[in-house]
Amino acid sequence: MPDSYGRVTFPVTPVDPVPPILITGGRVIDPANDIDDYLTVALSGGTICAVGKKIPEGFEAGVTIDAKGMWVVPGLVDMHVHLREPGREDKETIASGTMAAAAGGFTAVACMPNTTPALDEESKIRYVVQRSEGCPCRVYPVGAITEKLEGEKLAPFGEMVGAGAKAFSDDGRSVSNSYMMRNALNYSKSFNVPLICHCEDHDLTGQCHMNESAMSTRLGVRGIPSIAEEIVVARDIMIAEYTGARVHIAHVTTAGAVQIVREAKSRGAHVTCETCPHYFVFTDEDLATYDTNKKMNPPLRTPRDRAAVIEGLSDGTIDVIASDHAPHCSEEKDVEFAAAAFGVIGLETSLAAAITHLIDTNVLVPSHLVEKMSVAPNRVLGLQGGTLAASSVADITIIDPSCEWSVDSSRFFSKSRNTPFEGLTLRGAARYTILGGRIVFERR
Ligand SMILES: [Zn+2]
Ligand SMILES: [Zn+2]
Repeated sequence: MPDSYGRVTFPVTPVDPVPPILITGGRVIDPANDIDDYLTVALSGGTICAVGKKIPEGFEAGVTIDAKGMWVVPGLVDMHVHLREPGREDKETIASGTMAAAAGGFTAVACMPNTTPALDEESKIRYVVQRSEGCPCRVYPVGAITEKLEGEKLAPFGEMVGAGAKAFSDDGRSVSNSYMMRNALNYSKSFNVPLICHCEDHDLTGQCHMNESAMSTRLGVRGIPSIAEEIVVARDIMIAEYTGARVHIAHVTTAGAVQIVREAKSRGAHVTCETCPHYFVFTDEDLATYDTNKKMNPPLRTPRDRAAVIEGLSDGTIDVIASDHAPHCSEEKDVEFAAAAFGVIGLETSLAAAITHLIDTNVLVPSHLVEKMSVAPNRVLGLQGGTLAASSVADITIIDPSCEWSVDSSRFFSKSRNTPFEGLTLRGAARYTILGGRIVFERR
């Protein structure tokens, strides 16, 4: 491991005894229980035993964490990451990705099925679950909607749910065939798991590499129009409403898409959505230098779209912040813009980007951030975290909201370096990540 910025415990061996932990002096932010106060948190035996003004009687701490100046929050969840295993272990593995996640303050991630081979059957879901044992972050696999993500034949939802799949998605592609999408939504409804929709009209995006705008004209790059996203967002929500199923729209980036989701929610549709830090930090104007580490799909949009995404985060239209962590090796990024792979990493910068660009700018208050990075993703995926209530599992993130640091990807735990934040100064970081009552990450 190069000179990293903190220590990740890996592997996490379940036989080790977990010493009781006392967290004192921190600002406890637990929106699920309507708590935002300076309280003491006591953990024992892997669960939360008490949150209150005083140390519980008879509690003997093995470890005491002084959390003065810090936020103590339910473990963060990133519901959209690509761990690349199986198939592209040169870019990331479940081990390296979960180390990056723990260092980013996440106690759980949901991983997308576009691996090689795709996660489209029970045995492959089991493989991911098995490989994630002992990792410093929980891993919840997302199963494929269609076999090999080809859009032709539905994957076996029931078996995959039985093996641990928490949602279905053909992420990286849309299910183009509306009949297939209708069937998929009907099935997902019967298993009460959401479909996570990557919304892209592929007929409008072929051979395109950035957002279609005055900027793409200036740079001479073929552009992806905003309607390529919006048409499919509208269609998927319409089919979800027709079938009564739940749908979660991945990586919302355009003003139009935000408005479509807002209107659907006001009609009572079962729709939730996410955006990613790069969409509320950057715009297509940041592509003037053809930086391939700012090339992703959907692409960075216009300043107007960015403003609409921020408005959507502020008014609650956008439920979740997820990274769409997409590791690529340098051979796929150190090439001309048109040849470069789509995707950027985000696990180790998500929290800081959100604090710097949403909290410090007064778009969100801290409890809203915790809502979008813990409570809501837990709720969408039907997980048990997102709360600091007594006797819940002790997955906790302790955040230093004011430390400033400069992004240096050579120190990342991720195997890949394709971050759009390289060299930028951000504020805020996970200081401790606690998984099942055990400290799995400690920042230097
Ligand atoms: Zn996607
Ligand atoms: Zn993705």
